[in-house]
Amino acid sequence: MTTSTSATGKRVLLAAPRGYCAGVDRAVVAVEKALEHYGAPVYVRKEIVHNKYVVETLAARGAIFVNETDEVPEGARVVFSAHGVSPAVHAAAAERSLQTIDATCPLVTKVHKEAVRFAAEDYDILLIGHDGHEEVEGTYGEAPDHIQVVDSPDAVAGLEVRDPDRLIWISQTTLSVDETMETVRRLRERFPNLQDPPSDDICYATQNRQVAVKKLAPACDVVITVGSANSSNSVRLVEVALDAGARSSYRVDSAAEIDPAWLDGAATVGVTSGASVPEILVRDVLALLAEHGFDTVEEVRTATEDLMFSLPRELRADLKAAGTPVASPRRDGRRSLDVQPV
Ligand code: SF4
Repeated sequence: MTTSTSATGKRVLLAAPRGYCAGVDRAVVAVEKALEHYGAPVYVRKEIVHNKYVVETLAARGAIFVNETDEVPEGARVVFSAHGVSPAVHAAAAERSLQTIDATCPLVTKVHKEAVRFAAEDYDILLIGHDGHEEVEGTYGEAPDHIQVVDSPDAVAGLEVRDPDRLIWISQTTLSVDETMETVRRLRERFPNLQDPPSDDICYATQNRQVAVKKLAPACDVVITVGSANSSNSVRLVEVALDAGARSSYRVDSAAEIDPAWLDGAATVGVTSGASVPEILVRDVLALLAEHGFDTVEEVRTATEDLMFSLPRELRADLKAAGTPVASPRRDGRRSLDVQPV
């Protein structure tokens, strides 16, 4: 943590890591590159990542967001979002001869592969995650006959399985680590021979952002998380901050949503952002806080991230064939949608 003094005695604790993860950066750059290379429009199934600003910015550049592949004209190009899709969606796209670019985060793909493998080995699979979330729908769709969704610790009591000795849990990538462990604890109480997944399904970015906010929250009168309402990892950060001791905790899409009354009597404000949030939105929040006297910013860093994913295979092949350089996405969102470094 860096420290400095403020004339007002008011300060901001800024979480690090925060904002863009490798999977989000890759997905956003994929749409940007597709627009540059093929020209508008480029269709995108669902929000490419769960962030209002990102979606609106890409829409202004010519991306057309649709809910399902049947809204895409036959033979057109469609990008699948970072949250992943089920095999049924791939099949529906193929039936309409769509040219697909799959921007599913490789860490979501890893969970899909686990589901396929354990279903093939005839396990009952308990998928811990939020019912109705796109990522959960995609993973569930890999093996619907073998998977049950467990959406909270309380759901454990009502589960029925075929063979409690052939049972494994997997999870959505963007959950609260603590709540998931509580769900697993209750599962194991009921099913002592429950097996763990081969590696963590809650991804590095989700975990790192929760650890950082846990560290700063106890010192904060208010924690502000920048992120959209449908962003699972952003909403989890709001909860984690409260659980870790922040006196109040709010989520905003942008600085404009901050109610100045939240800052009344506060001396320390924590700021973080979800994995789908470009840094420009955090900078706007810091500028607004500075206007209210919170003009000292201390970074609370708990990890350094350097993971990067290469662009989706289909796009890379077309860019290469055209002689266009295939640069790797940056993990911090400074190149995609947001060119000014902090
Ligand atoms: S939050 Fe995690 S799983 Fe989701 S896109 Fe980012 S790195 Fe991938």
